[in-house]
Amino acid sequence: MRIAVVGGGISGLVAAYRLRTLLGPDADLLVLDRSDRVGGILYTGELAGEPVDLGAEAFVGRRPEVPELLRELGLESQLVIPAGLRPLVWSGGAAHPLPEGTLMGIPANAESMRGLVDAATLARIAAEPERPLTWEPGSDTDVYGLVADRFGAQVAERSVDPLLGGVYAGSSRSIGVRAALPTLAAALDNGAPSLTTAVRAALPPPSNAPVFGGIRDGYRTLLDALAARSEAKFVTATPGTRLARGLRGWVVDPIGAVDAVVLATPAPVTARLLGGVAPAAAAELAGVELSSSVVVALAVPRETALPQNSGILVATGEPLRAKAFTLSSRKWPHLAHRETALVRASFGKFGDDAALSWPDAELVTAAAEDLATVTGVPIAPSAAVVQRWPGGLAQYAPGHPARIAAVEAEVAALDGLAVAGAYLHGVGVPACVASGTAAAQRIAAR
Ligand SMILES: Cc1cc2nc3c(=O)[nH]c(=O)nc-3n(C[C@H](O)[C@H](O)[C@H](O)COP(=O)(O)OP(=O)(O)OC[C@H]3O[C@@H](n4cnc5c(N)ncnc54)[C@H](O)[C@@H]3O)c2cc1C
Repeated sequence: MRIAVVGGGISGLVAAYRLRTLLGPDADLLVLDRSDRVGGILYTGELAGEPVDLGAEAFVGRRPEVPELLRELGLESQLVIPAGLRPLVWSGGAAHPLPEGTLMGIPANAESMRGLVDAATLARIAAEPERPLTWEPGSDTDVYGLVADRFGAQVAERSVDPLLGGVYAGSSRSIGVRAALPTLAAALDNGAPSLTTAVRAALPPPSNAPVFGGIRDGYRTLLDALAARSEAKFVTATPGTRLARGLRGWVVDPIGAVDAVVLATPAPVTARLLGGVAPAAAAELAGVELSSSVVVALAVPRETALPQNSGILVATGEPLRAKAFTLSSRKWPHLAHRETALVRASFGKFGDDAALSWPDAELVTAAAEDLATVTGVPIAPSAAVVQRWPGGLAQYAPGHPARIAAVEAEVAALDGLAVAGAYLHGVGVPACVASGTAAAQRIAAR
């Protein structure tokens, strides 16, 4: 079999690696990417002579996909876990502990919001169970619409937005309840009489397992292993990559005839590629919007008195340019021994991509100034690196799961074609690994 994987991000690389394990050494695998670097949004660069992840820097540790993959590849010694420090939220010009016991920032009681929201909002949360809730089972809405209506705008902007900003580079206004909070949608579908009750039903059981995991030498270690073990041929795509039906399978321009194809490209590219072969799916995917962001990694003197927290998230409406900081040397014990302390600042979210066009020097200055503001300590970076991610994250808008179900149904009817990627069933790396695996299984099962 000759198989093309279009897109060499984590979704495509996992698909290629799984195809190799499922089909054996005779399969002719080609990975086509418009970039000459594999990994897509996963990119380990260098700062002060040491590796630093400039895209994703972690993964949800309670999902099994990444630890299992690392074990399978003999990389289990690369698995690291955070120190367990909590993040702060910058709101109203002050740092607050990130509320605990919430569902993506949505509280299960008023007490968890104390200090972050005003007294009127606390009273509104406490009284919420007494207000009748109308929810049409199976319906969807943006997270802001639900949370602001039940608990008030402060909860959405100060508690929910900082967390959704971290996952999607979006906000409660751009993200739908059903995709981002499926257990909450299920509790509401099941007739929860209030949002408070629904959040309580939807919260995961308490666990001492680490929430996040990471990779000691950066994601590059995983990407390199997947690329090598896939034994695929890597081809740099021309801007006009095209997909069409062939006599015995598919034709992918510029590599020619293949028996099967995995499309592991971002939603708009997949929409274009599917245009001639699955027009309804293409139209659905063309409606998936993207957000852009910029990561600025700073090396600062070790003795800088950064707070003992994993990071600082910024609430909506604060007069800062940065949206979040990861205090990497505090968050990750394996980074704490470095000669300089490492901080990652993030800029940009859905609807605000101005930072993409700022010069590097301006971004570094903004990162250092805003970090000084939120920590209250002078910041003097000794080195910095800037990474832009235009269109890096899909927005899971209201109706997203139904949209994706329609796409997958149309693609499932086409023999030898599969899709994978961060716009399908979650933007996180574990979900991408799962989607690459599922795509490979579908092709191999032919
Ligand atoms: C700043 C940032 C931080 C993040 N942090 C985390 C985190 O800490 N934890 C986490 O779990 N997730 C995180 N994510 C999300 C996660 O990194 C991504 O969702 C995931 O890496 C996407 O993988 P992918 O393979 O689906 O897509 P991509 O990585 O986007 O790969 C798609 C590939 O398709 C290629 N391509 C595009 N057009 C064409 C074409 N025409 N022809 C051929 N190839 C093409 C691209 O070059 C790219 O290599 C973060 C995302 C961003 C932007």
